[in-house]
Parts: sequence; structure tokens; C-alpha cells
Amino acid sequence: MTMTAERQKPVSDEDLVRGVRAGDRALLARAITLIESTRAEHRARAERLLETLLPATGGAHRIGITGVPGVGKSTAIDQLGVNLTAQGHKVAVLAVDPTSSRSGGSILGDKTRMARLGQDPAAFIRPSPTSGTLGGVAQRTRETIALVEAAGFDIVIVETVGVGQSETTVSEMVDVFVVLMLPGAGDELQGIKKGVLEIADIIAINKADGDNRDRASRAAAEYRSALSILTPVHPAWKPPVTLVSGLANQGLDELWRLICEHRRVMSEADAFAARRREQAAGWLHDLIDDGLRAAVTGRPAVRALLERLEGAVRAGRRTPQSAAAEVLAFAGLAVNMPATGTTS
Ligand code: GDP
Repeated sequence: MTMTAERQKPVSDEDLVRGVRAGDRALLARAITLIESTRAEHRARAERLLETLLPATGGAHRIGITGVPGVGKSTAIDQLGVNLTAQGHKVAVLAVDPTSSRSGGSILGDKTRMARLGQDPAAFIRPSPTSGTLGGVAQRTRETIALVEAAGFDIVIVETVGVGQSETTVSEMVDVFVVLMLPGAGDELQGIKKGVLEIADIIAINKADGDNRDRASRAAAEYRSALSILTPVHPAWKPPVTLVSGLANQGLDELWRLICEHRRVMSEADAFAARRREQAAGWLHDLIDDGLRAAVTGRPAVRALLERLEGAVRAGRRTPQSAAAEVLAFAGLAVNMPATGTTS
């Protein structure tokens, strides 16, 4: 993708801004490629672009959707997406797949997984950035949310799989977090990470069709009782459990109604905008953490020193404290190292 981008005719910052604002898909895609680039001059341009577009961002309802591979995410998002574009919405689908760089290609958010939405002129599907770490992928995705909002998409769906911290990460960049579950009884409940229930705003038991319906209803009852003993994300909203079938297009209208109801209830509790403010502040801190890390590991000379001193620490010739202080000083980050034993 980068190679094609490089072969394309250069486009000015002004044209990129105009193109994104006009919803020009080709220029939107180029803007996203730009923000995904790790080259310093691209980063500088990307930051200017995001700063210019800032006033035009924030207009979308941001929806996170997660679930294990095979739960039916792409089928459900494809169907929900075309239902929503039929109602006049403009839907962008992004993905956060921290494994994509390792598996050599992004699976999530692939257009071919969402055949109808991929053809829909009112939809825009973008696979996961392949920049490696979850933190890196998350930052690029947050920026892409801003770009698609500036391009006029009023619904952004961010899809992820339950790998490592990716669910928490996505829940921290969306307004509402929907967890898709498979029908099935207690055994499923045992297997799922309790953590995901703690961050879910809505639980949807998917594939609630045909022979699965009874099992899905039983699963819903189990999840309701599991949720009843958890503290909800916000006191105003008790996460509901609903049945859907992406394949049969059943229950998706009700799911959408719940997503909108969540927005209404949270707005009334003054919590909708507050969640975004918290997320923006959290993003700032993440960027600073990333910047600090990049100041060390992103520069060959500093990294070389770090590697050398790491060897000395391993061999017991240097203390971690003095080695860390030397690396930070060399990186231009002369900080007072915390005394041994303290954290943060
Ligand atoms: P993903 O990996 O979560 O994106 O799951 P997919 O959408 O690719 O679906 C995985 C498999 O489950 C496919 O064979 C689908 O046809 C099937 N599937 C998806 N949604 C449903 C559903 O609502 N009901 C049933 N019975 N099967 C489904």
C-alpha cells in the first residue's frame, strides 16, 4: 500500500484537507495511508492535517464491536452496516488487529469479509493498520476515526478481536462497546475473559437463529445473571443482553435501538461527552508515553547505548538505575530517576 501511495502523484496539504472534507474516498484513503506512515516527514504532515481537520471531527457515533474469531462479527457488521446506510447513514468500518503485522496481513476490516458493505457507496471499510504494537495500531485508529468523521461519516464501527489488551484499548476510543457472544451455556461463560464483561455496554448473543435459538436464550439468561453482580461502566447504564442473528438479519434493529438508547441515557447523565473528554485526555498521556519510548528505542544511537548497557546490567557490572539514567540523559531526557523501590 505504501509503495502505491509513493508512486501516486503528490498531493498538497490543502488538496488533502479539501478532499477529506468533501468525502473524496481516494483522498481519504491517502490521508489514512499518510497517518499510518512512520516516516518522520509523513508524521509531521499527518499532525498538521489532523490539527487542521480538528474542528470538523467528533461528529460520528463511535461504536466498538468485539468477539472471538468466528462469532460472526463480519457477517453482523456487514448486515448492520447496510441496514444503516439504507436509513441514510454514512458508515465507516475500521479495525484494530494487533496481530496483523505478525500474520503478514490484516484480516479484520477486510472489504471482502463484508461483501455488501464493501460495495456500498455510503460505506468505507479500512483494514487494521499493520504498524505492529497495539499502542501504535490504536493511535493510528484514533486518528483514522478523526479523518472519517471529517469526511462526513456519522457512524464509525471499530472492530476488534479479543487479543491481549485490544478490547480495552478499543473500548477507550468509542462511545459504546458491544460484545458479541456465541450461544451456549455455562461452558462459554467459563471460557470468556471476565474482563470483557466489565467493559461491555451491550452484550449481543449472535447466531440466535434456527436450532441455536434456545441455547442463545439460555446463554442470555446466564450473561444477565453474570452481569448483575458486576459494577457497570456507568451507574446510569445497566448493560443489556440481546439476541441477534447477523446472518438472518434478526435483532439488529433492536441492537441499534439499544446503541441509540445508550447514547440518550448517557447524554442525559452528562456522561456521553464526559467519556470523550476522558478519552481525549487519556490519548494525550498515551502519546506522551509513546513519544518518550520513541525517544529511546526509535533512535539508533540511543538504542545502541541501551543494548550495550543492558548487557552490562545483565552481567552485573552496572545497576539498572545508573544505566537507565545514562540512556535517558543521552536521549536528552535528563530526568531524576525515581529512587529504588518506587514506581511511577
Ligand atoms: P468473524 O470471524 O467473527 O468475523 O465471523 P464471520 O462473520 O466470518 O462468521 C463466521 C462463521 O459463522 C461463518 O461461517 C458465518 O457464515 C457464520 N455465521 C455468521 N453469522 C451467523 C449467524 O448469525 N448465524 C449463523 N447460524 N451463522 C453465522
